[in-house]
Amino acid sequence: MRITFIKPTIGRREHSLYTDEGRMEPLMLAVLAGLTPPDIDVRLYDDRMETIPLDEPTDLAAITVETYTARRAYEIASDFRARGVPVILGGIHPTLFPEEAARHADSLLLGDAETIWAQAVHDLSRKNLQKRYTGPPGRAQLCGSLPRRDLFQGKGYLPVTLMQFSRGCRFACTFCSVSEYFGRKHYIRRIDQVLEEIAAQKRRFLFFVDDNIASDRVALKDLCRELIPLKLHWVSQASLDVTQDPELMKLMQESGNAGNVMGFESITAESLRESRKAPNLRGFSRYEKEVETLRDHGMQTWAAFTLGHDGDTRDSIRATLDFALEGRFAFSAFNILMPYPNTPLYRRLAAEGRLLYDGCWWLHPAYRFNSAAFVPRRMTPEELTEECHRARTVYSSLPALLKRFSDVKTHLRSLWTAATYWRYNSIFKREVVKKHGMRFGLR
Ligand code: SF4
Repeated sequence: MRITFIKPTIGRREHSLYTDEGRMEPLMLAVLAGLTPPDIDVRLYDDRMETIPLDEPTDLAAITVETYTARRAYEIASDFRARGVPVILGGIHPTLFPEEAARHADSLLLGDAETIWAQAVHDLSRKNLQKRYTGPPGRAQLCGSLPRRDLFQGKGYLPVTLMQFSRGCRFACTFCSVSEYFGRKHYIRRIDQVLEEIAAQKRRFLFFVDDNIASDRVALKDLCRELIPLKLHWVSQASLDVTQDPELMKLMQESGNAGNVMGFESITAESLRESRKAPNLRGFSRYEKEVETLRDHGMQTWAAFTLGHDGDTRDSIRATLDFALEGRFAFSAFNILMPYPNTPLYRRLAAEGRLLYDGCWWLHPAYRFNSAAFVPRRMTPEELTEECHRARTVYSSLPALLKRFSDVKTHLRSLWTAATYWRYNSIFKREVVKKHGMRFGLR
């Protein structure tokens, strides 16, 4: 028996194919492959850079689906089903919107797949695949099983090992699908199993792809203490309130934390309150202390902004860009606020009649990557799209790159931090141009 795991791409550029240069390992597919009985042949194909061999015999196509890749995932599903191959879809998008995903699949894996995968494989072997398998959230990598990282060989992924320490987050930001998926809960793996997984791979640079690794500060401190003797570099995603805990900041630095993706979201308290961004609001004074604390600990921060809140204007987006330049962050993401299905933001905008693209931007043939999918209060959707693209373009221009680089506390701290800065900025600069206005799906 053979199972084919698929990671779909987002789509294509207007006149050419798109290859994601900054692609990272699709960790979850390797986790499922690791949980598959060894007598089953498994294949992994990554639609971001290789052609999926639809005519290669297989007994199941298992496709991971995010909102951004849903349109392409359904195209691939339809190709396999047309050849008589059953399709199972899983991931955050099918879990939040199972009615839609069910129209494109023979079976769905809802919730976290680890506890239900063995049953699905067993049913498949008896040609009795069920319509739905529902797993509880947060039961990660059971029994210490290891991801099949051998499946990543030769696929040109960035040289950083992805793994997870925790899933979920205790906060409830209104635009966040993670908060909806995990019901504001945070689940932690056993540290000894994380350490075994680190020992089983060869790299010294890790990316903990946790939704918010700092959701439980006590647990993160424990992890940091174990990481210190390993002398690794690691990055993750963390809420900004870590900066209020000096002991944690020190431990993160000592354990090799090189920086984190951090949701600054907005530079106004009004928008932070509107989106219930609680970790940013305590003692809010436009992040002066937070940015200094991050720099004092040598962290190369990836500042993420969501733009298009009800109070936002063209001017406030320009002020956000100035703030990011002044902060000399290693990277910044000027994201348009996106109404992900079944989030509180989506429900509010739907109730106010402000959703564009029939409320289904991820499947709509006219939607283009990085465009506003709703009507902002104080701009047109086109103005929001334009301002965010301008912010990305200015931020990754050569003068801005040089200005941001001139920080002895972070990017100029060592050869490694300088190389990281230039290597990833050059990839992201090209990606900004390539992805803007891209179509979803290949057809
Ligand atoms: S802090 Fe981050 S992960 Fe947590 S709910 Fe807010 S946006 Fe989501």
